[in-house]
Amino acid sequence: MADHPSGTGAAAASDIPSLDRLLNAEALRPALDAHGRTQVVAALRRDLDALRRRALDGGLARSELDAAAVAARTSAALDQAAQPRLRAVYNLTGTVLHTNLGRALLPDEAVASVLRALTSPANLEFDLDTGGRGDRDDLIDDLLCELTGAEAATVVNNNAAAVLLMLNALADRREVVVSRGELVEIGGAFRIPDIMKRAGAKLVEIGTTNRTHAADYETAIGPRTAMLMKVHCSNYAVTGFTKSVGIADVAALAHARGLPATVDLGSGTLVDLTQFGLPKEDTVRETIAAGADLVTFSGDKLLGGPQAGLLVGRADLIRKIKKNPLKRALRVGKLTLAALEPVLSLYRAPEFLAERLTTLRLLTRPLRDIQPQAERLRGALAHAAGPGYAVEAVPMFSQIGSGALPVDQLPSYGLAVRYAGSGRPGRHLDKLETLLRRLPVPVIGRIADDALWLDLRCLEARDEAAFAGQLAEPLA
Ligand SMILES: *Cc1c(COP(=O)(O)O)cnc(C)c1O
Repeated sequence: MADHPSGTGAAAASDIPSLDRLLNAEALRPALDAHGRTQVVAALRRDLDALRRRALDGGLARSELDAAAVAARTSAALDQAAQPRLRAVYNLTGTVLHTNLGRALLPDEAVASVLRALTSPANLEFDLDTGGRGDRDDLIDDLLCELTGAEAATVVNNNAAAVLLMLNALADRREVVVSRGELVEIGGAFRIPDIMKRAGAKLVEIGTTNRTHAADYETAIGPRTAMLMKVHCSNYAVTGFTKSVGIADVAALAHARGLPATVDLGSGTLVDLTQFGLPKEDTVRETIAAGADLVTFSGDKLLGGPQAGLLVGRADLIRKIKKNPLKRALRVGKLTLAALEPVLSLYRAPEFLAERLTTLRLLTRPLRDIQPQAERLRGALAHAAGPGYAVEAVPMFSQIGSGALPVDQLPSYGLAVRYAGSGRPGRHLDKLETLLRRLPVPVIGRIADDALWLDLRCLEARDEAAFAGQLAEPLA
């Protein structure tokens, strides 16, 4: 550095500037304005300590002592530390409702409602008609009843909480009859037998893995039976020589003995999905109409709303559930209710649903949108990945995810990246996957069959330019 005579040669510990001098240097002003004195002082101390150690080792250059150089390092370290841990990513995994990526995305109406609830007082538990105390469930229970045909409804933190609460409120120290074919484990340590134990209920398993008959339910009913329960086989399918008893028959058996029939519907959908070209899934309304006394389901799976557990069913049972002390521990906050109400309201106009409900829009996104997008983006990804890789626009299959309809796959389109060199592709694909994950907005794909697959179903038109912008420069 010719214009910087002090910037050449080795430096000694005595050349290192003082903390005070640096704090008063003009070069540190932007860092002080952005991060505040407390953090800048701590970062400078760390930097100066490192400089002192390096000076003792004899490896310190004078150029590193410049206030501008110190400021650059300090700002970079503080900017890095200030990055939020929870970040937006591109979900190109092909799994629309990806539990690890936050499941359903909220429609704009819900976002606006959450923003209002965040920044303004709201009538969360305040009755605007009487001026008296209200119940937070009142905000959404009418809507839930209207959409499901149930008599009453309540909401808790998630569906696991809904199942726990239902079992504790209605089956504490009593027996719950469940078919062996339905003893499901959902990813993330939710197992029906474990939840049952924690709720204080005793599980009575009936039938076999592949076949359960009505008589199995009948003979299992005894003086300590609290309910017959059905659980949706969310993430697996029992096929082949199988037999299960439908909810209508289970409900009839239960009712004949004066017991409730309950259903953990898992994803739970409020509309007939076949009208949108999606696979058939029993709706909550159909389940209630078939005789279920209580149904629990998730808010952020097929429903397309915020994380929540919804319980709908007979008024007397919901009343009992709401009186259980666990309800208070598992209740939802105002942000959940703020997001849930507009999402449920969208279901009142089913003709707009496929356009306005983000989850359904993504699930029904036509190939005629996705395929040209893959062809448009192919060149950008090929350029960014570099000559070591071959990128093709190819058809692929998306999944709904979150245990909904595990065996059905949606025709989609995307980019397949293969290693173009000789030898084993694994390490090279891992490296590319890592580089994509380190972009400012990380791109999450999946590696399978010696290729990195980026399914473009969930890259909506409004995000395409920003996505392509990140690929303008070669990665690495
Ligand atoms: C997903 C699922 C759950 C858990 O729901 P969360 O909302 O994730 O707590 C419970 N039961 C079934 C059958 C499920 O599919």
